[in-house]
Amino acid sequence: MAIDATLPYDDDNIFAKILRGEIPNKTVYEDEHVLAFQDINPQAPQHILVIPKGKYVSWDDFSAKASDAEIGGFVRAVGHVAREAGMVEAGYRLLANIGQNAHQEVPHLHVHIFAGKPLGPMLVKG
Ligand code: AMP
Repeated sequence: MAIDATLPYDDDNIFAKILRGEIPNKTVYEDEHVLAFQDINPQAPQHILVIPKGKYVSWDDFSAKASDAEIGGFVRAVGHVAREAGMVEAGYRLLANIGQNAHQEVPHLHVHIFAGKPLGPMLVKG
């Protein structure tokens, strides 16, 4: 079910539990500000999620409240992960679902990185 990204941060969301080490994940990159891990239900041959370690629900929340170090670290980490995963030459797609219309399911900001095949049109029409 999609969530309302205007709601306050929920400490019980699944990515908060991953960050606290309460449930396992397949980490591909980690630093003081960021965790990147394999999506549990991949929608492409390569599907990685990149999340800030801070408690941010959405892109607008993150960009309004995060420090420059968190924002810079997050942007750099997405590029680092794409490079390290060998996605650059053939190309890759970034996606961040925010709120109900975008079908955000986990209320902790995350960027999807998809790669490994031609990814088709950007959005379903209609
Ligand atoms: P979104 O619809 O943009 O909120 O995407 C949420 C993503 O989180 C989906 O692609 C799920 O497959 C993924 N996901 C949910 N639970 C886990 C988990 N425990 N480990 C890794 N990925 C997860």
